[in-house]
Amino acid sequence: MDDLARRLKGRALALGFDRVGIAPAQAPPGYPHFLAWLDAGRGAGMGYLADHAGARAHPGAILEGVRSVVMASLVYGGRSGQPAVGKVARYARGADYHTALRGRLELLAEWLRDEAPGVSARAVVDTAPLMERDFARLAGLGWIGKNTMLIDRKLGSFTVLGALLVDADLEPDAPHASSHCGTCTRCLDACPTGAFDGPYRLDARRCISYWTIEHQGPIPDAAAGELHGWAFGCDVCQDVCPWNRKAPAARIPEFAPRPEWEAPDLVEWLTRSKWRWKRLLTNSALRRAGRSGLVRNAALTLGVAGRVDAVPALAARLADPKEDPTIRHAAAWALGRIDAPEARAALDAHARG
Ligand code: SF4
Ligand code: SF4
Repeated sequence: MDDLARRLKGRALALGFDRVGIAPAQAPPGYPHFLAWLDAGRGAGMGYLADHAGARAHPGAILEGVRSVVMASLVYGGRSGQPAVGKVARYARGADYHTALRGRLELLAEWLRDEAPGVSARAVVDTAPLMERDFARLAGLGWIGKNTMLIDRKLGSFTVLGALLVDADLEPDAPHASSHCGTCTRCLDACPTGAFDGPYRLDARRCISYWTIEHQGPIPDAAAGELHGWAFGCDVCQDVCPWNRKAPAARIPEFAPRPEWEAPDLVEWLTRSKWRWKRLLTNSALRRAGRSGLVRNAALTLGVAGRVDAVPALAARLADPKEDPTIRHAAAWALGRIDAPEARAALDAHARG
């Protein structure tokens, strides 16, 4: 299977992947750390992680008889400025990474089945409980940095990972055994909400990415006031990493930033029709938060910024009885943060019913 592994990697690169490596299917070494992280409540409201925690103990839970885990990465990075209020994490500014990864992994699986009849292969992109970063390290793609991201010496950490589980022994790569963080603590120091309890220990309960993407419903006051201009995700602990200083830009056309996420206008988010939201969220990673989460985030962020120009749009959301309750809650919260007579008038009108 040595030659098959070599040709498989060549095929993956030809399909547009930036890096590919192979790990043996085994219990991931980071699994006990993951369980301790969950037990400490650091997973916040991500109940789905706990629901499938046991399955992460071995990739055999995803593909019976799995012997090899092919890990492949795509770079999504590239330098571009964003407004101080209304920032969208880099990975979400282009087309949905799930689609970009899955399409290529399915083609790779098809190629493998043709080359090695009888072999089973299953593509995994965030859709099955696999400890992707652990397997990427085992496959030699890089090390897990103190910010918990996988860091590739040449590509940095602005990459997304996909896996192909294979029930055949493919020649594995040497694991990336060393760490190159050294004495650096930039990511830990730069986090605007102090979400790191220490190196490699991220507490989702204080992370902007968690609140703006994963959390459904109203965001508690303390976290709502600490979004630091982010409308979806947060890149700070990656932006400051020295290994991203020379990181390359995305090569695949799907990751070219879309204008609506590259320079978002949050006041327009508040007034955008549901139909237009649906259209813009098609093939976008922002779909995970949905209109409810995104308009909520926009309202809160504008409120913290004290944006008087957002008052009419916030007042309209609050006054609409058919509006999503999460959005109405956020609109009221935001109006309460804006020091302007028209904001107070909108809240008074709402209180009077
Ligand atoms: S994503 Fe942002 S809030 Fe979360 S740990 Fe990194 S810097 Fe902190
Ligand atoms: S900022 Fe420094 S400590 Fe953090 S991941 Fe990068 S190299 Fe490691």
